[in-house]
Amino acid sequence: MERTLIILKPDAVQRHLVGKIISRFEEKGFQVTGLKMTRITEAMARKHYAVHEGKDFFKPLIRYISSGPLIVMVLKGKDAIEVARKMMGSTFGSKAESGTIRGDYAVSTRFNLVHGSDSPETAEKEISIFFKKEELFDYNLNDLQWIYDMSMGDIV
Ligand code: UDP
Ligand code: MG
Repeated sequence: MERTLIILKPDAVQRHLVGKIISRFEEKGFQVTGLKMTRITEAMARKHYAVHEGKDFFKPLIRYISSGPLIVMVLKGKDAIEVARKMMGSTFGSKAESGTIRGDYAVSTRFNLVHGSDSPETAEKEISIFFKKEELFDYNLNDLQWIYDMSMGDIV
């Protein structure tokens, strides 16, 4: 089981898409293990997007992500990082495939509604930026045996 950090960016909040986007991840079968509305300071934003420092879109990206309240959540599931990014679609809204979150609801190259971690290392780093230990919950999902085939011991 893998963890990923998902952000519903300020445009998702402003455009009343929070419920829809969370539903997509829930319906897919992910377990929500942490969820809150918060604001991100410029310092947190710079840390979160450190890989993009120096790029031409870095400054407007920091302004965008810290421009209003956003939703952060931690999802748990098999191959959660890859699956969530597939559900988000490619970065630019106008290029993202229909059926994905960005493909269905975004047209902008910057205002693209969602963030998802891109590797296990960045996921752990990003989760630690946004969540304290006591804000994350370890609990049993009763229908897990219907989301995955666990009858043979492993998760398929
Ligand atoms: N972004 C932008 N201009 C670009 C590329 C990216 O404004 O040319 C923004 C966009 O909001 C994107 C974020 O910067 O989601 C991080 O970029 P990245 O390449 O990591 O895309 P992602 O991982 O979000 O698909
Ligand atoms: Mg990225």
